[in-house]
Amino acid sequence: MIFFRLENDVTYFDHNATAPLHPVAREAWLEAADNFIGNPSSPHRVGSRADAALEEARLRLAAMLGCHAHDIVWTSGATEANNQVFQHFARVLPPDAPIHISAIEHPSVAESAAHYFGDRASLIPVTPDGIVDLDWLAEALARHRPGLVAVMAADNVTGVIQPWEQVANLCRRWEVPYLCDAAQWLGKENPIGLGTCDFVSGCAHKVGGPRGIGFLKCPSQGRLKPFLVGGPQEENRRAGTENVAGALALVAMLDARCGLLVEVEARREMRDQFIQRLTTALPEVKIVGELQPRLWNTVAAQLPQVDCRQRWVVKLDKLGVAVSTGSACSSGKEEPSPVLLAMGYAPNQAARVLRFSSGWETNEKDWETLLAIIQQAARELGVLASV
Ligand code: PLP
Repeated sequence: MIFFRLENDVTYFDHNATAPLHPVAREAWLEAADNFIGNPSSPHRVGSRADAALEEARLRLAAMLGCHAHDIVWTSGATEANNQVFQHFARVLPPDAPIHISAIEHPSVAESAAHYFGDRASLIPVTPDGIVDLDWLAEALARHRPGLVAVMAADNVTGVIQPWEQVANLCRRWEVPYLCDAAQWLGKENPIGLGTCDFVSGCAHKVGGPRGIGFLKCPSQGRLKPFLVGGPQEENRRAGTENVAGALALVAMLDARCGLLVEVEARREMRDQFIQRLTTALPEVKIVGELQPRLWNTVAAQLPQVDCRQRWVVKLDKLGVAVSTGSACSSGKEEPSPVLLAMGYAPNQAARVLRFSSGWETNEKDWETLLAIIQQAARELGVLASV
């Protein structure tokens, strides 16, 4: 029986969509699944052991973020966590209350806001470099306090790092609840300080943890309305048997990634060397958000015009490298990414942007392979003369 297949024939540059399961997470998951067989809610010792392990994981995650363990609610991932926040505020805010979300949020925030708030959800504009416009937000908050603000920590399409600490300060000053989607930040940058945001969403699978586990950090005071009902788990904030093994694997993975943060500068250099060589080989290439601080693992690049962007992705895939056109959720669709449109890209420019997202295990050779394959694709697509 085949349990898994190693994709040896593919160089993987789509970690922002999901990352391969890392041995640290696999071991933590298997060990927990073997050792903690009980339901944390069960009244016997087997259940209590599972409960104790889950609480230990909650404490460790809270310590990483800098918040109280009671502030953590385990979820199936960041999408669920984001949805939970919007459904909560839709139920507790007055029916005419406006909210503000940045124009570059992941669909799990953008569509959730639209679903629950319709046109009461207004978009905080971003600069052409893809950074949320803090002046706009400061003025808007001074004029009228919205019921909620959502600005992500780092963008999944461009990798541009957002000024979430300043947003948190502004929101604190005006006493407006703040949701920070940290799905792309966690395990790549330092998590300390995130705990000062009222709400934080995150997941394990972007940095080597298993899929199907994430969390919502929320204020322990004030009752968070459950999104899933039908059980008292998570102090009545999220019904359903908790994913104990997933939670332990998430914490083990994030811990391991935090240990690597000293290497971030070297990773950034690897990325920048690739950019330099790519733009030398193909001078038409433009890097999205080039002048702004970006995640060390992400390069969003506007490639030379060919018939449509799918041709780049399909060609690169056939040549052995997996990349994306934007967020995984919008891949395969023809519409250009709303993130790039919000940054002022014309649809035909946005349609040529590809996202190359590496992981901690990506090495110089992988970046070289990516470069060589892009050059080969460019030759085959007729935008680079054969040599
Ligand atoms: N938020 C951001 C910024 C993301 O990049 C993603 C995944 O692409 C999500 C939320 C959704 O995360 P999950 O897959 O855990 O639901």
